[in-house]
Amino acid sequence: MPSLSADDRGIILPCPACGTANRIAYPRLGQQSENTGRCGTCKEPLPQVAAPVEIDSAGAFSNLIAQSPLPVVIDFWAPWCGPCQMMAPEFAKAAAQAAGEAVFVKVNTDEQQQIARQFNVQGIPAFALMKSGRKAAETSGFQPAARLLAWMRSA
Ligand SMILES: [Zn+2]
Repeated sequence: MPSLSADDRGIILPCPACGTANRIAYPRLGQQSENTGRCGTCKEPLPQVAAPVEIDSAGAFSNLIAQSPLPVVIDFWAPWCGPCQMMAPEFAKAAAQAAGEAVFVKVNTDEQQQIARQFNVQGIPAFALMKSGRKAAETSGFQPAARLLAWMRSA
């Protein structure tokens, strides 16, 4: 699954059945055990968010952090960073394996400098775990999906 996008209100999830873009509002993330609702067009159940979400605005980021009932794992990265490129498929794998358990987002530190400063990001790749709007843990450096998940679950 390719990366997903988000706006100020929720994550944009394409319906696997018909392709319609459905918005999963942040407060509803992970709220149903088997799915997050039904497609507005074809009424098929929508799956959990199972791919990294690209954050391209500070508003989307702050609303997600404040409103998501699920923990949020943030990947701070930049296009010029080699270890970040190596990390990308591992981060995607972790997002798929933890679908419904946590939401995985990617923050480009070149484009979202305000967020990077807010988190005092020094070196990348760096990761932060948010629970109920607060930072619960942080780590950095390349790591396989299994290690990232173990870090997330032990926090
Ligand atoms: Zn549909």
